[in-house]
Amino acid sequence: MENTIYKKTVIIGGVAGGATTAARLRRLDENMEIVMFEKGEYISYANCGLPYYIGDTIKSRENLLLQTPEAMKKKFNIDVRIHSEVKKINMDKKTVTVENLHTKEVYEESYDALVLATGSAPLRPPVPGIEDGNIFSLWNIPDTDRIKSFLTEKKPQSAAVIGGGFIGLEMAENLHHAGLSVSVVEMQDQVMAPFDREMACLLHENMELNGVRLFLGAGVKAFEKRENTTVLLLSDGRKLETDMVILSVGIRPVSKLAIEAGIRTNSRGGIITDAQMKTSAPDIYAVGDAVETEEIIFHERTMLPLAGPANKQARILADVLAGKERAYQGVQAASIAKVFDLTAASTGVNEKQLKNRGMVKGRDYETVLINQKSHAGYYPGAVMLSMKLLFTREGRILGAQIAGQEGVDKRIDVISAVMRLNGTVKDLAQLEMAYAPPYSSAKDPVNMLGFTAQNVLEGLAAFITCEELDARLAEGAASCIVLDVTEDAEREAFSIPGSIHIPLGQLRERLSELPADKLIVPYCAIGVRSYNAARILMQNGFGQVRILAGGTAFYKSMHYKEYNGFSSGKGESCKESGKEAGGNGGGDKTAGCITVDCCGLQCPGPIMKVKEALAAMQTGEKLQVTATDMGFARDVEAWCRRTGNTFLEAERKDKEYVVLIRKGSDACPAAENMPTAQGKTMVVFSGDLDKVLASFIIANGAAAMGRPVTMFFTFWGLNALRKPQKQKTAKTAVEKMFGAMMPRGIKKLKLSKMNMAGMGTAMMKKVMKDKNVDSLETLMKQAMANGVKLVACTMSMDVMGIKKEELIDGVELAGVASYLGDAEESNVNLFI
Ligand code: FAD
Repeated sequence: MENTIYKKTVIIGGVAGGATTAARLRRLDENMEIVMFEKGEYISYANCGLPYYIGDTIKSRENLLLQTPEAMKKKFNIDVRIHSEVKKINMDKKTVTVENLHTKEVYEESYDALVLATGSAPLRPPVPGIEDGNIFSLWNIPDTDRIKSFLTEKKPQSAAVIGGGFIGLEMAENLHHAGLSVSVVEMQDQVMAPFDREMACLLHENMELNGVRLFLGAGVKAFEKRENTTVLLLSDGRKLETDMVILSVGIRPVSKLAIEAGIRTNSRGGIITDAQMKTSAPDIYAVGDAVETEEIIFHERTMLPLAGPANKQARILADVLAGKERAYQGVQAASIAKVFDLTAASTGVNEKQLKNRGMVKGRDYETVLINQKSHAGYYPGAVMLSMKLLFTREGRILGAQIAGQEGVDKRIDVISAVMRLNGTVKDLAQLEMAYAPPYSSAKDPVNMLGFTAQNVLEGLAAFITCEELDARLAEGAASCIVLDVTEDAEREAFSIPGSIHIPLGQLRERLSELPADKLIVPYCAIGVRSYNAARILMQNGFGQVRILAGGTAFYKSMHYKEYNGFSSGKGESCKESGKEAGGNGGGDKTAGCITVDCCGLQCPGPIMKVKEALAAMQTGEKLQVTATDMGFARDVEAWCRRTGNTFLEAERKDKEYVVLIRKGSDACPAAENMPTAQGKTMVVFSGDLDKVLASFIIANGAAAMGRPVTMFFTFWGLNALRKPQKQKTAKTAVEKMFGAMMPRGIKKLKLSKMNMAGMGTAMMKKVMKDKNVDSLETLMKQAMANGVKLVACTMSMDVMGIKKEELIDGVELAGVASYLGDAEESNVNLFI
């Protein structure tokens, strides 16, 4: 390759790409004439730091301004002209037309080489009302100043961020940090597009834990100005009133100059460049957000508006302009963002992109989803990392996503580096990583990803994702056996509806309880015990075993609205009021408390320790538990409820959760501070078709609203839960007679009125079909898929001689106490 050595380089744009090109070029060529035009007032500022200045984490505005024109002149002898907008490229004359925005003077400047580092600009879609003064975009220093002074002068109490990309989320966090009540509105069903949904759900859950209201799957149709507020009219009909709005809905490349000059651009206006960052025009180059380059996974053309690529492209371009042989290898899409308590990072492609390319899981690619500690669990402060790896059947790494509180950056960068060097999952497994307990484990989380991926490729483990499991369960509970291998104490806190419970330690002895011809899905909290369970099953002749990927840690965040008992921050937790804990009437509420430190322990460790500690305590005594496991924080409230203990308070202190429990339930928290009961419970006493139908319609409606629903089938209602086929069971003569007389399953139920020897029932079924009303079978399947708890009353079963084997899969057996427990957590209780 032969490079031209230029005498004069003109650069348009004075921030990341432009200023880096200029500085490196000067270091390589002392004689080159370098002119840099910037239409704004500021050059080389830290745009990535702007959200943190708004949130007051970065205190000084000056710290954002990395260079001034004067300093650039002094240090680098670069002719920086601010307030100077380049209006036109005159390719034939090799000049640019420039307007001084202050003096309005227009002039031409000649170039030998021209660099376009014009960046990108935020989108402002043509939504009615978008010009309202309360609606801001954040892109540069003047935008930042506007937002900052609005915060200082108007003192808004609430903000809505539109767009759940990384800048939107950083703004949400910083406005929350600044004390505002924040909502995030996002058109997709998830935030953070580089993440796949199950990974994004971890972020959703954490944001909601922090009190952020999420409006997913909702676009903004219009903004309506009220006196001091703005009302957002959302596409799903909801309305949201807020004191200020931050628009962060995407960007477009700034490439008007290039397009008008006839330089080749793509359909989005991205300037097409080659490996030397050269455009289609002679002696014109481009870098940064405005360009289209190659990506390194599939070697396709792409645009990646991030600071890392802009800076690297700029350095390579400066080398090229100085006559060096250099080639930009392409972008990899490595990115990272702090989202409240979590760090979210990704590299390469995600599963959505693979599917969009027509790639099929199991044939073209595989995924693993694991949870690992950031460092050795026995060293204080270890926290969980949730990691996803995508790779081909040959072991080539296609991408990775990580969310966690600590150590995310290191792991994503290691994986990125392995990918860049064409490494495989085998390399991840073998990487020798520096280890001491405060930093890692002897098997680093990155090694664990490699091990798990190897297991998948070698057939030692197969996984099912939460979404796949939900889909399976929607087909009917009979389609698989969900096997809970956790300990009793964990099951008291949480279980997947319809699952069978065999703790891992008992599995070898209880294999005969499991059918060998069905798909078995073992699960535990994070996926380690379920892997061990899978190995036991697979080596004992169970041919279809798929581990629930990521365990209940992922399952619960995918369903966090249904399962979360824990609330934190801003005093939303269930607090005892009136008297102080410790009984000293106003002193330290933890005085006299027994304390248990569960930091670093992962599930089931903390719950087991709490159970042990409470067992040794007297009723009424208090236990203060400190834990770092987020799963524990989520589960402990439900666990207390189910075990008859009193959850008093939960507080987050940095990375630790401090939970206060009173043994026994005599001292119930004050009602006004209790979270409002949202559940719906129903006693289905009747076995009449119409009444059972009505109960399932109500149950599905409530479940669709995200409410926990329990249907307690007792007496004649039990018939709705019976399998249609006769089952072999040991029954007395009376029980047999009873069983034969009663309808077996929902297909045999009759109308309560106008049955007319079955004619009425048949007519009703036809009318329902004609009117597109789901059949009872469909309603029942939907209910189970939606997590409605179907409970058969054990006392009635006994009385009516109905045996467990006669009931359809997925039904729980329980007594009236369990039902009453659910009823206490409900605000609607029906008797049908
Ligand atoms: P810019 O840095 O935007 O510079 C382009 C400059 O060109 C502008 O100053 C513009 O005024 C000037 N210009 C345009 N047209 C003309 C013209 N005709 N005449 C004269 N001047 C002109 N990236 C990350 O990797 N990590 C992050 O954490 C991160 N955080 C961010 C946070 C915010 C709030 C923002 C706004 C961006 C963030 N980015 C981040 C993105 C990153 O800042 C950009 O990718 C990077 O700045 C792109 O560099 P660039 O040189 O292409 O464009």
